[in-house]
Amino acid sequence: MPNQPISVTLIRDSAHRYFASFVVETNLEYLPKTESSIGIDLGISTFATLSNGEKINAPKPLKNNLKKLAKFQRKFVKTQPDSNRRERRRLKIARLHAKIKDIRTDFLHKLSTDLVRNYDTIVLEDLNVSGMVKNRKLAKAISDLGWRQFRTLAEAKCEKYGREFRIINRWEPTSQKCSCCGFRGGKKELNVREWTCLNCGTFHDRDINAAINILETIQPKTKVEAIQAEILETPVQLSIFGIVAGGQSETQNKTRRCGKSSPKKDVSLRDMKRINESSTHPESFKQLSLFD
Ligand SMILES: [Zn+2]
Repeated sequence: MPNQPISVTLIRDSAHRYFASFVVETNLEYLPKTESSIGIDLGISTFATLSNGEKINAPKPLKNNLKKLAKFQRKFVKTQPDSNRRERRRLKIARLHAKIKDIRTDFLHKLSTDLVRNYDTIVLEDLNVSGMVKNRKLAKAISDLGWRQFRTLAEAKCEKYGREFRIINRWEPTSQKCSCCGFRGGKKELNVREWTCLNCGTFHDRDINAAINILETIQPKTKVEAIQAEILETPVQLSIFGIVAGGQSETQNKTRRCGKSSPKKDVSLRDMKRINESSTHPESFKQLSLFD
């Protein structure tokens, strides 16, 4: 353990298994940068498709043990309440449930650790899991896969190891768009696993194409776009214009909202307006680099 534990809690679960849970203070352990990012498309037939083309299948422990579970449950209901036999049969069911959960959790831990180790940024699509689980056909399959748990684990590990974890909007047309040319071919039914782009002719695997689009949603296409986004988002950055144009101190600029010019300043309202307008045009950023 990295440090002396603050507390220890002993837990006995319904399958009569004992666990010791330690609370330990740790420092963030930053992993070395890998300079690569990954987009992940989660699915039912293939658990995860990565933007590098890799496909990862998940174990389906519930599906594989469904018959056994049903048999145990049938035997359980036949027993007398409060009998020893009933408790023995209850324990059998609980142990099987525990085994199913362990297989799933073990897989999800290994996968999330592997991804966090290899990529600086992990991008997932925000799936409407609770909405999908309402669909009874899908509910069992989705719960068996553990999408929600995967997301929680990946997010926690990213935080611990200093990685970036991003969730993109579920309404992004990640499966409609061609990842090569950006052409939107319209909605595709779930059974369409492969398609050819009508615009550029690229042949796509549905899931790999979606994973690439998921990754590209967060990656700025060009350097100019990245700088532009940064400047528009940060008001302090805008004060750079103030310093250059009017020679005002930084503290004065921080308290003043962009666009409102005090009459005492050397910069006229018209100049400020012009400067602010120019900040929306990419060409103006070439000038900005002169002041760096
Ligand atoms: Zn295309």
